[in-house]
Amino acid sequence: MTEQIQPIRGMSDILPADTALWQQIESVIQRILAAYGYREIRIPLVERTELFRRSIGEVTDIVEKEMYTFNDRNDVSLTLRPEATAGIVRAGISNGLLHNQRQKLWCAGPMFRYEKPQKGRYRQFHQLDVEALGYTGPDIDAELIIMSQRIWQELGIEDVCLQINSLGTPESRAVYKDSLTAYFNRHLDALDADSRNRLQRNPLRILDSKNPDMRALIDAAPTITDTLDAESAAHFEALRTLLDDAGIACQVNPRLVRGLDYYSRTVFEWVTDRLGAQGAVCSGGRYDGLVEHMGGRKTPAVGWAIGMDRLVELYRLSGGALPGGQSDVYIVAVGDEALRAAFRIAEGLRDEYPNLRVETNCGGGSFKSQMKRADRSGAVVALILGEEEVAGKTVNVKLLREKSEQRRVAWDDVCKVIGDAIGDD
Ligand code: ATP
Ligand code: MG
Repeated sequence: MTEQIQPIRGMSDILPADTALWQQIESVIQRILAAYGYREIRIPLVERTELFRRSIGEVTDIVEKEMYTFNDRNDVSLTLRPEATAGIVRAGISNGLLHNQRQKLWCAGPMFRYEKPQKGRYRQFHQLDVEALGYTGPDIDAELIIMSQRIWQELGIEDVCLQINSLGTPESRAVYKDSLTAYFNRHLDALDADSRNRLQRNPLRILDSKNPDMRALIDAAPTITDTLDAESAAHFEALRTLLDDAGIACQVNPRLVRGLDYYSRTVFEWVTDRLGAQGAVCSGGRYDGLVEHMGGRKTPAVGWAIGMDRLVELYRLSGGALPGGQSDVYIVAVGDEALRAAFRIAEGLRDEYPNLRVETNCGGGSFKSQMKRADRSGAVVALILGEEEVAGKTVNVKLLREKSEQRRVAWDDVCKVIGDAIGDD
């Protein structure tokens, strides 16, 4: 036998048994985003490497070790997008969407990071990303968080809690960086190699360390709250009032700094303890400096991204309803004339009920084997056609999920009978 080609580690197929669940979640989210005035933007999966280096920042896990970077045939360095914000900002600038305008955008799709694959952490994973550009907040910051809360609520997800923090302005953060540098310098011996490297280049990123041995030292470090500037403190206060009004409980976590360099003021993360070590389901924050840093005019901005793979898993764990099998109505047809009638009836049903999933038995088979397929398809109703039924222009209707006699119905009445049996949505 010819050798099989293996899939790539950390990149999985989402199989038909699962895509219905994904689509169900995506449609709930998209409806909510539209209700808040967000519109979809679709950006390339690949950008110039420089875009991510500059926007995400050199001293980040993503840029240091997680990017899929390669040269194209013209020796231009390209990178598979590890996140969406950089590309959206680039698209906003390239297409003149940001100057004197405000944008509420969302973008969904695969992202790529060369990470150690494990439960909840993959090399190709999926994000749903939302960005509000041109808004200074804190009102929009609050609205974005309220919008995410509505998503959990409508999906019936209860085990998530909100952590928030303020990173202040670049100026006030510089003061904090100094006190943090002094603190970690006093504890150099306790730092791991990664953190020592970060101490030189961006000490804030030490707080983001995932090494459990660093936990105690990080917990005792000075907090950013002590050095927050007055305006950022007022912004933070107003945000918390609006969240409070909306009944959203949050936990202020002064260690929350997020992985990316370009954040300012508000940062937040929705976390759960139901997914093991990979607890962040949605993370976001304000990045007022980024657009200018990327060559556009100064534009305030805030956004978040949901890790869809984690959300789907959480939805499943929360008992989220799984859509049924692949069809609602299965048409069993034994013989050539029966098949022709089956095709006509199926098209009539699809005309009448655009949301009904109708499957006509293809590939022949005995009555018994077709009935087995009907059962496996998840259909609620089987329509059965044989020689006798065709001769009388009738069809036998059998309810597959409850005990009842099958009954003979004239072709003209099939639509109505199906409507009564399944509901005419
Ligand atoms: P983490 O701390 O888990 O590495 P992050 O800070 O790198 O997350 P972001 O860059 O903010 O994450 O991405 C937003 C969301 O995308 C995360 O909250 C998470 O749900 C999801 N996510 C990030 N990386 C992965 C991955 N490799 N596989 C699956 N989901 C991911
Ligand atoms: Mg990460």
